[in-house]
Amino acid sequence: MDMTYRKLGPSGVKVSVLSFGSWVTFKAQVDKDAAAEMLQTARAAGVNFFDNAEAYAGGESERIMGEAIRDLGWERWSYVVSTKLFWGIHDDVNMKNTLNRKYLLSAIDESLDRLGLDFVDLLFCHRPDPETPIEETVRAMSDIVSAGKALYWGTSEWSADEIRAAWGIADRLGLHKPVMEQPQYNLFERTRVEREYRRLYDDIGLGLTTWSPLASGLLTGKYADGIPTDSRAGLEGYDWLKDRVTDPDANAKVKRLKEVADDLDCSLSQLAIAWCAANPNVSTVILGASRVEQLQENLGALDVLDALDDDVRARIKKVMRGS
Ligand code: NDP
Repeated sequence: MDMTYRKLGPSGVKVSVLSFGSWVTFKAQVDKDAAAEMLQTARAAGVNFFDNAEAYAGGESERIMGEAIRDLGWERWSYVVSTKLFWGIHDDVNMKNTLNRKYLLSAIDESLDRLGLDFVDLLFCHRPDPETPIEETVRAMSDIVSAGKALYWGTSEWSADEIRAAWGIADRLGLHKPVMEQPQYNLFERTRVEREYRRLYDDIGLGLTTWSPLASGLLTGKYADGIPTDSRAGLEGYDWLKDRVTDPDANAKVKRLKEVADDLDCSLSQLAIAWCAANPNVSTVILGASRVEQLQENLGALDVLDALDDDVRARIKKVMRGS
């Protein structure tokens, strides 16, 4: 099936229903040449959105993506690229874990410098910051958009109340409104997207760029017998992931999902990704991959979308409920 494109929430810009991001992988597992190969593989399949963040590999992920895209010679108008700000990379009281104006206005310039770009298309507040008034953040993000350094702004892992508050402030003050949110969404993590944000889709037209469709690889079945040495949970610094991906209940469900995938003649990862993309409130599912073969396999989820009829969905629901 050919790539399809969805409007990013209330904006006029369209993103491919499958997109590609660089968390964990760029720098730690993927160097510039491999990044270029993966970016080109995604683009050849119709992917037009590429996700990044200031914090990924301490800024190196932005540098690698920027250089790889320059090497590939892509025209700036032909792709949508994001970055995200919050954690900061300077060890300073005003530059860490914050969405204050001083940080945001300085961090965007540094991100653009690393990416080698004049603007990003999408700029996210990577987490909420309870210490900075939402109005200060909204004004700063709107000013960044007005300055032409980002075309659209949004949030990541904000509560529905926080998103609604930001949108209301921007509406009242005539500022650029947030148009998208970046939440985790996969077969094991559904509450925010399906319940908490439910009213926001109609009320403010919220768009979603969702992350970790495979729950960091758990939904590929690769953790059924422990942690492969060449996997994310085997990487140094990712101990926090180990318990989650080797959880016996979760892996028992994944094993049963494999039967559904087998019946559809697709892989587990394709089934799990297609399931995310089948939610019409999802604008784009951001894929992650440490190898080009994984990305190729995952892009094949497009061919599974039409197979997710009511019967298949009911089977998946039953498995995930443990019934
Ligand atoms: P996934 O849950 O899909 O995990 C991707 C990882 O799973 C790969 O790096 C690889 O890891 C493994 N994998 C992928 N496909 C296969 C396959 N076919 N077979 C075997 N293993 C496979 O997505 P991510 O967690 O990477 O998230 C995707 C993107 O979302 C990120 O790159 C980032 O852009 C965004 N994101 C945003 C966040 C936010 O806070 N806003 C947070 C997290 C992600 P390995 O080979 O190493 O095991």
